[in-house]
Amino acid sequence: MRALLLGTGSPPPNPRRRGPATLVSLGEERFLVDAGSGVGGQLVQAGVRPYDWPRVLITHHHSDHTIDLGHLLITRWIVGQNAPFEVWGPAGTRRQMEKLLDYLAWDIEVRRAHMHDRRPPEVRVTEIEEGRILEVGGVAVSAFLVEHGPVKPAFGFRFEGGGRSVVISGDTRPSENLIRWSQEVDCLVHECCEMAKTAWYPGCGWPTLEEKIRDLASYHTQPADIGRVAAAARAGKLVVTHMMPGSVPAELREAAARHYAGPVVVGEDLDEV
Ligand SMILES: [Zn+2]
Ligand SMILES: [Zn+2]
Repeated sequence: MRALLLGTGSPPPNPRRRGPATLVSLGEERFLVDAGSGVGGQLVQAGVRPYDWPRVLITHHHSDHTIDLGHLLITRWIVGQNAPFEVWGPAGTRRQMEKLLDYLAWDIEVRRAHMHDRRPPEVRVTEIEEGRILEVGGVAVSAFLVEHGPVKPAFGFRFEGGGRSVVISGDTRPSENLIRWSQEVDCLVHECCEMAKTAWYPGCGWPTLEEKIRDLASYHTQPADIGRVAAAARAGKLVVTHMMPGSVPAELREAAARHYAGPVVVGEDLDEV
């Protein structure tokens, strides 16, 4: 089983890191976790042409994880893929996809008017709960709740297949439930959204930079905690992702190594982990 980091960034645009997205695959079976900004181009870079763009598993509905769902949906349809676009995600996913189809309706009709015989794109949504959600092509996928309140529910995913296991954390503060579901995982892909690197502008919704950092740090995992999570999960390897533009990989590696003795990879886009 392979995990390919398509996007290791976070909400702020970063020319070096696309938005959150990870491709997990075993043989021909593929699972895309999240659809952050730029995911379509990254899939092509990884050798997956739009006709073959896979099912998508959404961890939560923050826009940095879903912003390019529309691009995936419409592009695979434009090139000729008529199989339904499968989307798995938390409660609310069906409504979001209906709104997305509504947003794209004009474009779809204009394009269909040019085509000789084409039905509109279809979307197949499965709203998930904690537990085993999917077993296909030798891969078992489980969803588990993480702590990203006020975003509820928010999930992480565990993949098992080909004698290997991978966990994708989604966005979460250090979570006991994630640690339970990640026990002895071969590869733990975990967020580290370093809020000390955030920017502040008047009008952003917080009166001071310090308050913004404190509020946002309370629902993400900070560098000081990331190694503790990996050690408690007894993970075979820690892969750090969801980074801020100002984060320094060497500093994150050092912070993680303070509590975790295993190998630490600070992810870069298109790294295979
Ligand atoms: Zn989030
Ligand atoms: Zn995020």
